[in-house]
Amino acid sequence: RLSLERDLRLAIERQEFHLCFQPQWEIEGRRLVGWEALLRWNSPTRGTVTPSDFIPVAEDIGLIHQLGQMVLEQACQEAVRWSERNLGEFLISVNLSARQFAIGDLATQIEAVLSATGLDPHCLELEITETVMVENPRRARDVLSELKSRGIRVAIDDFGTGYSSLSYLSTFPIDRLKIDRSFVASSLNDPNAAAIVEAVISLARALDMVAIAEGVETEEQRLFLQSQGCHQIQGYLSGAPMRACEIEAFLNSHHH
Ligand code: C2E
Ligand code: MG
Ligand code: MG
Repeated sequence: RLSLERDLRLAIERQEFHLCFQPQWEIEGRRLVGWEALLRWNSPTRGTVTPSDFIPVAEDIGLIHQLGQMVLEQACQEAVRWSERNLGEFLISVNLSARQFAIGDLATQIEAVLSATGLDPHCLELEITETVMVENPRRARDVLSELKSRGIRVAIDDFGTGYSSLSYLSTFPIDRLKIDRSFVASSLNDPNAAAIVEAVISLARALDMVAIAEGVETEEQRLFLQSQGCHQIQGYLSGAPMRACEIEAFLNSHHH
């Protein structure tokens, strides 16, 4: 654990991080709506470390703020490049850690990144978890409402896996609900998972939010989601996370 912490601190200085981007599609598959930025750590000694293994450590030792700043900057820069190269206007979704809400200046920090990069605020979406709504609801609502008033969008990630508070859901400015990939994965052979998927889609629709399913790997899953009225999908079926330099070729091969 100590050596992981030490390596993480060095990794920031040594720039061992990069972002990958995963496409998000309308469920019919004809329109690409956005890209999620996913952090990657290529450690010279550990190999590729998954964010699930190093984000919690970065949170504990306070490195998440620096890391989060870097992710925001690089993600926004990349989205500006897409429109400069006429690849299209897409949403860029950035994952935020609950810890990033604990310090007071998140809204200011994000606005500074937007003005430094020149990204249209309407192109940025922040992915938060249910934890953020429950842990510090007043703070989170204030920050998100301020960002919302500038046009920035908000999504709830991994919906259904945390401590959900349905009463908070309607009081937060939320645009999209991301159905957790564990429900999607079981939806075809576990009636309970299928029921949860159906319920989340109905909930999103009733609250005027967009439902996006994560981790869609097969055409059968996509068809099931479509039959339930799900709006959008993200997953290996329609594109795995890729490096920034691969995006242009991906777009060309899909004649979007
Ligand atoms: P997430 O935000 O729910 O991201 C989706 C994860 O599902 C990604 O894993 C992605 O590679 C994976 N995935 C995408 N399509 C499929 C599929 O069809 N099947 C399966 N089995 N998996 C799929 P990844 O990149 O390892 O990220 C794991 C988690 O780490 C993310 O979950 C997110 O919570 C966190 N994370 C990633 N990047 C950042 C970041 O920049 N900041 C923060 N705070 N957290 C991040
Ligand atoms: Mg996410
Ligand atoms: Mg997720």
